[in-house]
Amino acid sequence: MGTLQEILSTPLGVIEWFVYLLAAVLFVVGLHLMNSPKTARRGNLISAAGMVMACVMAFIVLLESEIANGFQHGVAVALLVAGIAIGTIVGVWSARKVKMTDMPQLVSVFNTVGGGAAALVALNDILTSEQLPGLVVLITAGLGIMIGSVTFTGSLVAAGKLQGVKFLRKLTLPAKGVWNIGFIILTVAAFVMLCIQPEQRLLWSVLTTVFALGYGLVFVIPIGGADMPVVISVLNACTGTAVAMSGLAINNIALIVAGALVGAAGVTLSLAMSKAMNRPLMSVLAGGFGGASSAAGSSDGPEGTMKETTADDVAVQLVYADKVIFVPGFGLAQAQAQRELADLGELLKNHGVEVSYAIHPVAGRMPGHMNVLLAEANVPYEELIDLDDINPQFPSANVALVVGANDVTNPAARRPGTPVSGMPILDVDKAQNVVVMKRGRGKGYAGIENELYFEPNTQMLFGDAKQGLQAVIAAVKELIA
Ligand code: NDP
Repeated sequence: MGTLQEILSTPLGVIEWFVYLLAAVLFVVGLHLMNSPKTARRGNLISAAGMVMACVMAFIVLLESEIANGFQHGVAVALLVAGIAIGTIVGVWSARKVKMTDMPQLVSVFNTVGGGAAALVALNDILTSEQLPGLVVLITAGLGIMIGSVTFTGSLVAAGKLQGVKFLRKLTLPAKGVWNIGFIILTVAAFVMLCIQPEQRLLWSVLTTVFALGYGLVFVIPIGGADMPVVISVLNACTGTAVAMSGLAINNIALIVAGALVGAAGVTLSLAMSKAMNRPLMSVLAGGFGGASSAAGSSDGPEGTMKETTADDVAVQLVYADKVIFVPGFGLAQAQAQRELADLGELLKNHGVEVSYAIHPVAGRMPGHMNVLLAEANVPYEELIDLDDINPQFPSANVALVVGANDVTNPAARRPGTPVSGMPILDVDKAQNVVVMKRGRGKGYAGIENELYFEPNTQMLFGDAKQGLQAVIAAVKELIA
């Protein structure tokens, strides 16, 4: 794209500018509607409409210039059409087929693609311009290359870790601080050289790309346990920032606004997550916390035995309770048992039991995972209580029913030296009775045993969460009848 003056000098340029502006407005309105679960779906559709408009406009502009030039770059147009077709098919397929529990990996893959695309746009702008690029273009495009490349490799590793790829979860990096600082210095040095010596732009932009790709790898490889949610939101912020920088470099308002929105939302989320997880953002960025990888596990786990219980016994405890707190986690999403949990809640409430749902900020595999899941099952929003507000209520709860939650309830977080150390947890162990529903002795995401399961007031109801809840519901109905 040319300068603003050049763009606005033709009728198509004026239309293009206004379409991008309209698309940007739709992004903002859509994002605003995503504030509430009631309007989030509409917000998503409005933002998607803005994105379709921007893509169609970009294609029309390219086609018009190709027609005017007698299809000099016919191959490029053919590639673009193929790209749009493949992207549309993969996008629709993944939106329909990917399971809710796999959504975090999908988002990470989208971040990979977004970061990579932003870096390529910026690289292309620097390398193909006929005149030497000015300092502003060098800085914005250079930042686009740097941040986009870090996001590309970082998000790729994050997606693999979330998918549970064994090789990645076991991978560790000795002296990770040295690698991190080394790659940061190399990347920044190459970027500075690009700005100082634009005549050597091929060499310096390629080196900036390579070093930034390397930093993305060493940044995410050692991270595991409770750091991962913060890293994922940081990478999300990086994708937006890289897109905005590339938009500035090529003077595209739609890219600038879309990137700025994603970047700002990502930064806000990163700050909120690092605060909620008690992880200083800077120490996460400098290469993880304590280095306890999710695969590290712990050989010297808690001592004692787990007490098993039955659905009938759990039903008795629930029916005769005054106050019950449900504690949902990743296993609830995995079992798709949110409707059963909501049904059990309704049954108990109708019987006069006080029921609430304890929501940990990183329960599940993406921020807000439990809120989305329970909203889908029509659980009233006011019954979802955040960590700070629910924790003082556990001692007065007769029963805490933990459904597929593990790490977010692990008292090991209160001690130093474990992969979850320092992470705020739900004080489930302080409830009068604790019932944990899970399939077996599987560990949580952080890969360590949960001390809660060995406490004297804890009983285990083993089995798939959906089937377990169905059995408890049947037993509760029988008791109430
Ligand atoms: P965890 O991943 O710690 O534990 C989930 C538990 O659910 C497992 O122990 C598993 O045990 C059980 N489970 C799995 N499938 C089923 C099923 N079908 N029925 C019943 N139980 C099942 O979950 P939490 O929600 O407690 O913690 C989230 C973890 O994920 C944290 O460590 C967090 O840092 C991390 N994380 C969170 C992200 C976020 O943004 N929210 C992003 C990335 C990571 P078993 O196999 O025995 O059934």
